[in-house]
Amino acid sequence: MKPIGLYLHIPFCRQKCLYCDFCSFPGRTEDYHRYLKALKQELKQRWAPQWQVATIYIGGGTPTVLPPSALADLLHAIRTIAPVQPEAEVTVEANPGTVDGNGLAQLRAAGVNRLSLGAQSGNDRFLKVLGRCHTVADVEKTVALARQVGFANISLDLIFGLPGETPDDWRQTLRWATALQPDHLSCYGLQVEGGTPLYAMVQEGRVRLPTEDEVSAMFLTNTQLLPAAGYDQYEISNFARRPKGDEATGGNYQCRHNLIYWRYQDYLGLGVAAASTLAGHRWANHCNLEEYISALDAGTAPPALTETLTPQQEMAEMLMLGFRLTAGPDPVDFERRWGANLDAVLGERVSPLLAGGFLRKTAGTYQLTPRGMLVSNQVLTQLLLPLL
Ligand code: SF4
Repeated sequence: MKPIGLYLHIPFCRQKCLYCDFCSFPGRTEDYHRYLKALKQELKQRWAPQWQVATIYIGGGTPTVLPPSALADLLHAIRTIAPVQPEAEVTVEANPGTVDGNGLAQLRAAGVNRLSLGAQSGNDRFLKVLGRCHTVADVEKTVALARQVGFANISLDLIFGLPGETPDDWRQTLRWATALQPDHLSCYGLQVEGGTPLYAMVQEGRVRLPTEDEVSAMFLTNTQLLPAAGYDQYEISNFARRPKGDEATGGNYQCRHNLIYWRYQDYLGLGVAAASTLAGHRWANHCNLEEYISALDAGTAPPALTETLTPQQEMAEMLMLGFRLTAGPDPVDFERRWGANLDAVLGERVSPLLAGGFLRKTAGTYQLTPRGMLVSNQVLTQLLLPLL
């Protein structure tokens, strides 16, 4: 059987954050039930008997605006439709303040073994600028409750480069976050997307973003402060706690679901705006709640944008994602899948990047250095443009 990752998008939120351009809708509680029914329907429709679920990731939006019993029911439905590996990683994204101890206990009992909390900042001033619906104290409380009910794998999402934030502020957020002892940290730079209220605030000069140099300093702080605190970087923006010697985790705290994306392996995404890559087929459902629900109610496939890549474009995609990992793209898997040698495909283009300190070569493959990560878009464009 072929192991795949399963992603389910819950597009509901309590309120819309000021920087958000994800497919999410505030309120809409009246749609919860119909949407969950449609999600199950889409799983039945798309599921193929040769697959087996290796990871489940329920993301959003804010999955925990749904009643915990509805999420438990969704997980139960997945298990009745699709075989799920007994050791599967099962993640639910949660916003602090949207779930209490009882809800967390229900999720744990339903088989959720990884909790990803949208903490974003350790400073209430920045949470307010972002329009988040929780406080720093809510994050601390939710982490404590999650530990109490038995979550052994907790991840915190953080954002740096916030309006008015200094490298010192960011360092304080990291210190605060590591003191909470999560098992995983995701640290993304803020993207101010056109059309969001934050974009207008920046354009009108109502808030000031940190300079490029300040943002670079914050990124470099991640790569220094976090390893010193026991978190190893394994992807440009992701850090996993180093298991302690006596810890019987049998592995590590890297996010197995996201590794499927970065290794360009197969995953099925369900729900509005969810993307899938399966055996060379790629598609992304439209972000239209009503169309999605009506299509599935009528027993038809939800509207989606499909994309067909040439083998060369697929190679480039695999490398683009693989270079996000600190280990770099896997040269053995690359050759097995494309019948082409990684060195031959990258050719002479690696030489100036190695000489410039943007790439290094170890274990038969190439890795971005911290310097290369700072300008990863430019480095990867230079490296992969001839394949696109
Ligand atoms: S919680 Fe996440 S998905 Fe929801 S509005 Fe805020 S940023 Fe967007």
